[in-house]
Amino acid sequence: MKYIFANWKSNKNRKDAEHWMDEFDKNYAHFASHEDLEIIIAPPMPSLMFISNRLLDRQKHPHVYLAVQDLSSYPAGSYTGAVSTVNLEGFNVKYAILGHSERRNYFEESDMDVAKKVDQAVEAGITPVVCVDEDYIESQAYAIDKKHHKKCIVAYEPLSAIGTGDEMNPKKVVEVVNRIRKAFGDVRVIYGGSVDGDNVKDYLEVCDGVLVGGASLKVDEFKRLV
Ligand code: PEP
Repeated sequence: MKYIFANWKSNKNRKDAEHWMDEFDKNYAHFASHEDLEIIIAPPMPSLMFISNRLLDRQKHPHVYLAVQDLSSYPAGSYTGAVSTVNLEGFNVKYAILGHSERRNYFEESDMDVAKKVDQAVEAGITPVVCVDEDYIESQAYAIDKKHHKKCIVAYEPLSAIGTGDEMNPKKVVEVVNRIRKAFGDVRVIYGGSVDGDNVKDYLEVCDGVLVGGASLKVDEFKRLV
């Protein structure tokens, strides 16, 4: 199985999200043409309910799943502004992207914060997609409860390649995938950083999938990539 995550980050209002889903559905035969491919949409939180409703008809969307871009490190309770796994019940969220470098840089998330979010996700039956860069592969693996390691997908997200167009050499990705598997065990590893329709094949040959930001925002571009 290969995984293609569409991370919209903080882009798109409700109307834009509707337009994207309309275009996606029009092209659905193309998106669903590979049985061994999962497409995962990670919209901003306010569009989650709408997209979840659109995906509810599983016969129409058998290979498409939903992810959140973040999660609370706390359970349900008095944590104003945070989205707990309880808040997500009923929306069919399969994955949670955790510890993205933008969360680490702009919101000062630490390895421990990410590890707590992994605990929350696993307890709720949501698969954590733990983002790492080379500097903290081992420290992040150490912070996460060992019994959760196998449940994670680990995303190699080199800061130098995110949103820069400065794509990473796939040979380097192989090296880092091996390092990740040394630290986390035999986990699924995906790559993220300036993936587009031209280079995606190279990455899918060396790891289990891709995390796509910019190239997922327009359905035409995303279609070409898929
Ligand atoms: C990302 O969102 O994690 C990402 C890799 O973005 P981009 O594809 O735009 O580099």
